Amino acid sequence: MLNIILFGPPGAGKGTQSVKLTEKYKLIHLSTGDILRAEVAAQTELGKEAKTLMDKGILVSDDIVIGMIDTKICKNERSSNGFIFDGFPRTLPQAESLDKLLEKHSTSISMTLALEVNEAELFHRISLRGKSSGRADDQDEATFRKRMAVYNNETSPLKDYYKKQGKLRTVKGIGEIDEIFNALCSEIDKKL
Ligand code: ADP
Repeated sequence: MLNIILFGPPGAGKGTQSVKLTEKYKLIHLSTGDILRAEVAAQTELGKEAKTLMDKGILVSDDIVIGMIDTKICKNERSSNGFIFDGFPRTLPQAESLDKLLEKHSTSISMTLALEVNEAELFHRISLRGKSSGRADDQDEATFRKRMAVYNNETSPLKDYYKKQGKLRTVKGIGEIDEIFNALCSEIDKKL
């Protein structure tokens, strides 16, 4: 199986690139942000609880997102060549649980592709996205700052976790969408 983590700060382009990679390599896209937003839209109990946190830029609890990922892996495993994890893992416990979950299915992370984008560009992209997406967490500068702080404190250290495993590849996340896509593909193709 080809299991890829697409890693990067809010607004790095993980969603956009995940869709293209999913199509090319016939993978299943697992975005915890998308799954949580679907719960919010369906007004489930989980969705109601998650919305309050998401609107403030705070992470939803590890147990909840790990459970969601576990369910999706079990449901899709047989029909898939592998997964693209987008927005997950975001904390060390999530990364450790993901390794264990995949091991249970006799597979593992193939590589972590980290998109690198500076904070000024991220802020610019998120404010543009806020105008069209309707996402509350994209429309408020304080929430963006909070998400960046959460990323820097809790998520960014995971780069070391994957570096130690020899799985981290960094790719420049600024430029044309297709140019970035080609850079990601060339990292993946080295492994195939
Ligand atoms: P972005 O990548 O633009 O920050 P996402 O769509 O991935 O946004 O996530 C939006 C919000 O959903 C996060 O700010 C957080 O509240 C919640 N969320 C998404 N993924 C996770 C996760 N793996 N762990 C905890 N919370 C998450």
